[in-house]
Amino acid sequence: MDAQQIRSAFLQLVAERGHTVIDRASLVPRDDPTTLFTGSGMQPLLPYLLGEPHPAGTRLADVQPCVRAQDIEEVGDNRHTTFFEMLGNWSLGDYFKAEQIPMFWHFLVDVVGLDPERIYVSVFTGDPEHDIPRDDESADIWTELFTAAGVSADRVELLTEEHGNEVGNQGARIAFYQDKNWWSRGGGPDQMIVGDPGGPDSEVFYYFPQVEHDTAFGRYPHQNSDGGQYLEIGNSVFMQYRRTGGDGVAPGFAELPHRNVDYGGGLERIAAAAIDSPDVFRISLLWPVVAELERLSGKSYDDATHAMRIVTDHVRGAVFLAADGVVPSNKEAGYVMRRLLRRAIRFAAELGVENNVLTPLVDVIADLYADAYPEVGEKRETITKVLQKEERAFRRTLNKGLRELRHIAKEQRTITGDDFFTLNDTFGFPVELSTEEAGRQGLSISSDWRAEFDARREEQRARSQAATKLGAHD
Ligand code: ATP
Ligand code: MG
Ligand code: MG
Ligand code: MG
Repeated sequence: MDAQQIRSAFLQLVAERGHTVIDRASLVPRDDPTTLFTGSGMQPLLPYLLGEPHPAGTRLADVQPCVRAQDIEEVGDNRHTTFFEMLGNWSLGDYFKAEQIPMFWHFLVDVVGLDPERIYVSVFTGDPEHDIPRDDESADIWTELFTAAGVSADRVELLTEEHGNEVGNQGARIAFYQDKNWWSRGGGPDQMIVGDPGGPDSEVFYYFPQVEHDTAFGRYPHQNSDGGQYLEIGNSVFMQYRRTGGDGVAPGFAELPHRNVDYGGGLERIAAAAIDSPDVFRISLLWPVVAELERLSGKSYDDATHAMRIVTDHVRGAVFLAADGVVPSNKEAGYVMRRLLRRAIRFAAELGVENNVLTPLVDVIADLYADAYPEVGEKRETITKVLQKEERAFRRTLNKGLRELRHIAKEQRTITGDDFFTLNDTFGFPVELSTEEAGRQGLSISSDWRAEFDARREEQRARSQAATKLGAHD
C-alpha cells in the first residue's frame, strides 16, 4: 500500500468501526493564543477530551495535517518533518483499551500489512509514588495479539532510561517504561493540573534490521527510536485518571467515570514501514518531490540527502501553510513560513539550484495532495504566487548576505548580534538561518549575540514607531 492508500484505508476502517470522520482543523489555530500551529490531531479536540460534549458524538476520527516548528532542527534525519499528517481516532467516554489496541493492531498488520515480528511496544510502568498502577491491562492485550500472531511477547521492566541500560532481556517485545508512557497536559503525574485527566500510553515502534545498530542509542526500542533501528509509528493514550488534589507533594488520583482514548499515528512513518524503508522521504507522498529536486539539480538523493530532505520538507510545509492562508512575514506563523522558505532556498542553492526552485516543487506537491486536500489543488495559483514572491525577494539579497558572511569568516573575527541584525535587516536572513550559516562557515559566535540582536531590533522598532507618530501629526 502506498501512503495515499494507507490514508484512505485508515478512514475506511474507522468509519466501519462507527467513528464520525470530522473535518481537519486549520494549521493555524484561530482561538488559541498559546500556540502558533496545530501540532497533533488531539490539539483541536482538547476541550472535548477535557469533558465538553462533541456534536459529532463519542467516536471521532480524522487525518490532521500538523506543523511542528520545534522539529525543524531534526529535519534532515530519516523520520522527522516539520509538516506531517497524523492519523487520529478518539473515544470520548466510549470504547477503551480492549477495542483501541486490537483496532490499531488490525490496521497495522491486516490492513497495511506490516510484519508482526517487527512491531515493538512500550507501556506505562506505573508510578508507585502516586499510587498509579502499572498498565498491565494494555500489556496483556498486546501480549495476546503478539501471541496469536506467533510472535514471542517477552517483557522487560525498564522504569527509566538510565535503568534501562543495566537490565537484561534486550530482545523484549514489550517494555514497561515510566518517563515517556504517560500523557497529561502538564507532563508527568507530578505536573498534572488539578482536575485534569491523564493516563498511560502505549507507544508502537517498527524495527528496521537493515539500519546499523548505533551504540549511541540504548538497547531497547523506545530508547533508540530517535534515530536508531526503531521508528515510532504511533501511540494511544488512555485517559483514565483525574487529578483530584495535592500540590505536587501528595497529589491524589481518581479513576475517571468517562475514560477517553486518543490515538495518533504518523502517516508518513506508517507508509515508510509499509515499503520497508526506514527513510520517510522514500514514500509516495515525498519521493516525487525529491525526484523533481534531483532533476532540477542534476544531483542524486544519495549524494545530497540532507539538503534534499530539508528542501522537500520545508517547501511542502510552506505549501500547506499557504493553503491555510498564511503568508510570509516577520512575525508568528508568517515568520516560521518565511524561515522554512528561506532555508529551503538556501539549501537549494547548495544543491546548485540558483533560480526558481519553488514553483516546480509546488506543482509536484499540489498534484500529490489535490485529491485528499482539494484546497491545495484549488489554491495552486495563489500558493505559487505567494511562494514565488518570497523567493524573488530573498534571491535578490541571498548572495550578498552570503558574501557578507564569508567576509566576516575571512577576517576571522567573532560574529556579533550586530552582524546578525544587519543580515536580517539588510539581507533578509532569518536569524536562525544566519546562526546556522555562521556555524557552517566555522565562525565563532559572540556569547551575548542574542541580547545584542534583540536590542538592535528594539531600537529599530522604537524608531519606526516614532516615525509613524510624527507622520500622523504632519
Ligand atoms: P518522535 O518521538 O519520533 O519525535 P513524538 O512522540 O514526538 O515522535 P507524537 O506526539 O506521539 O510524536 O505524535 C504521534 C505520531 O506522529 C508519532 O508516533 C509519529 O509517528 C508521528 N510524528 C511525530 N512527529 C513527527 C514528525 N516530526 N515527522 C513525522 N512524523 C511525526
Ligand atoms: Mg517528537
Ligand atoms: Mg516519541
Ligand atoms: Mg509519541
